[in-house]
Amino acid sequence: MDRTLPLSALQHYLYCPRQCALIHVEKVWAENRFTAEGRLLHLRADSGSAGRRGGVAEDRAVPIRSDRLGLYGVADVVEMRPGPDGREIPYPVEYKRGSPKVEDWDRAQLCAQAMCLEEMLGAVIRDGAIFYGKPRRRERVVFDTPLRSLVEQSCRDMHTMVETAQTPPATHGKRCRGCSLKGACMPKTGQDVERYLLKGLEP
Ligand code: SF4
Repeated sequence: MDRTLPLSALQHYLYCPRQCALIHVEKVWAENRFTAEGRLLHLRADSGSAGRRGGVAEDRAVPIRSDRLGLYGVADVVEMRPGPDGREIPYPVEYKRGSPKVEDWDRAQLCAQAMCLEEMLGAVIRDGAIFYGKPRRRERVVFDTPLRSLVEQSCRDMHTMVETAQTPPATHGKRCRGCSLKGACMPKTGQDVERYLLKGLEP
């Protein structure tokens, strides 16, 4: 793909395509308690250096990129685990505030990280893990075909949306409660973001 977008854009797109468009098309951003806590958790993961944990080598804050998916970002932690043929296999670990979700948002984001690492290193990565803040434990994620297809299709759709600058209309739902952009989005009123921003510029 010609354009690359941050990995966080995919996370936003999977959560709500309109949220992704508000950030990457309309350039709106707002922080709330959830985004602030998430950022602090990532900072903690990013603050370490390369080292070993339980006999496994790990790198922190690893820059990653995929031209095929049109994504770039930073992997919180990449463990290098011994493979069956003696070669080390990257094992991405992502840190998240909150608890495991029914939806594939977090799993797809981790899978996208693995696909970036595969493209960069010529490796095959079958699984990784997400460390959740509540409860404080890891959830293993298998990068199977449906999850990889979800990542590929979502990246294609997300790039099309950003390139054509099409912001989808708001559809109010449960996810809006924790959305940092609900002030700009106004999902219940149907008011569009342009009107909201123009209103803010009025004397
Ligand atoms: S408030 Fe709801 S519809 Fe609007 S961007 Fe957030 S999640 Fe999407």
